[in-house]
Amino acid sequence: MAEEPNPVEVAWRRRAREFAEASILPLQRSIDRDDRFPADLTARLAEAGFLGVGLPSDWGGRGGNTRCVAAVLEELARASAAVATLVSVHISVCAQPIERWGTESQKEAFLRPLAQGRWIGAFALTEAGAGSDAARIACRYRRDGGELVLLGSKMFITNGASADVILTFAAAVDGPHSGRISALLLRKGTPGFTAPQRLDKLGLRGSETNELLYDDVRLPVNALLGEEGHGLSLALGALTAGRVGIAACALGVAQAAYDEVERAVRADPQDRNRSTLARAYTRLVAARSLVERAADRRDRGQPFVREGSAAKLACSETALWIAERAVDLGGVDAALAGSRPAQLLRDARVFPIVEGTTEIQELILGRALSGE
Ligand SMILES: Cc1cc2nc3c(=O)[nH]c(=O)nc-3n(C[C@H](O)[C@H](O)[C@H](O)COP(=O)(O)OP(=O)(O)OC[C@H]3O[C@@H](n4cnc5c(N)ncnc54)[C@H](O)[C@@H]3O)c2cc1C
Repeated sequence: MAEEPNPVEVAWRRRAREFAEASILPLQRSIDRDDRFPADLTARLAEAGFLGVGLPSDWGGRGGNTRCVAAVLEELARASAAVATLVSVHISVCAQPIERWGTESQKEAFLRPLAQGRWIGAFALTEAGAGSDAARIACRYRRDGGELVLLGSKMFITNGASADVILTFAAAVDGPHSGRISALLLRKGTPGFTAPQRLDKLGLRGSETNELLYDDVRLPVNALLGEEGHGLSLALGALTAGRVGIAACALGVAQAAYDEVERAVRADPQDRNRSTLARAYTRLVAARSLVERAADRRDRGQPFVREGSAAKLACSETALWIAERAVDLGGVDAALAGSRPAQLLRDARVFPIVEGTTEIQELILGRALSGE
């Protein structure tokens, strides 16, 4: 059983809901249509503290545990999954790994501005030839004097072009860690680093997804995050934690789709429609309890690999299932590309892919449950 929300979580959820209703919902249609955020929305997210939730106040963050982060992400995603995804990636797979593995000086240089919301973070692991199997990445770095020289490319990187810090994974070509992957902290504007392509996606439109190029990018040795050669386990650890956040984003889409189903059924309360509503409600509540359970375990310092994978898998599938029902019940209007049910269906379809596909969650969970 998940714990009841505490007053801090309740307050975060309320603030996120109020913000989402006032500042995101009115823009949601144009964000999807234009595949862009208005310039000041990120600044307003920062001002409201949503870029610092779950990050320690000692480093400029707003505090709050995983339950608070999940509540914020769900409420933001209920209005716009694209906005929530920006925040989820920034917190869960960029700022929090720096908090966990960074040195004091890395925290001062990178975590503080991220936690204060002055900077945006990104996480760059996936490449054109390496997605689920991250060990196959081809991005490389070599040593040249006191510097690391990075060469290669990344694909499908959220916040990639506008992020101020890009946590980048590459393998060493020389030295004692040759062939092993390390995590590197890269600043936007470093010579040789470019984002040549913004990808035009089916869903999560408005969330920036980029191809990134590293053409002999020179970094100081202290750009290495965590131990050199241990980047793959760092990446997988970050993704394990991040899964709770991305599950909460999918849950927000499920909730928004449920809102559409409920509206349609209240307008036409036939028994067949009521039974759809009942099943949507049951799935939604079950998915939320999995997110809360995973977050509770993480907050208590207990292992949460199974619970995180189960939450990601269930929330992605639930969002898709309910969004399909929202389209069904929405009639012909819902078949229009810009309709809310259609948008939710497109957003929902992307969640089974991001931060570990459904098949990969099945593998992780199946291994854990069978005692491996
Ligand atoms: C909107 C969006 C945002 C993203 N943001 C980021 C980001 O910020 N940073 C980042 O690094 N990446 C990001 N990604 C990339 C994402 O993590 C990858 O797309 C994902 O890991 C899958 O990789 P792939 O697309 O290369 O598919 P592949 O790994 O090639 O998989 C193709 C298919 O095969 C299945 N499959 C693969 N291996 C197995 C297996 N062993 N067993 C069973 N089935 C398998 C998969 O489930 C999938 O259905 C993003 C992707 C999207 C769509």
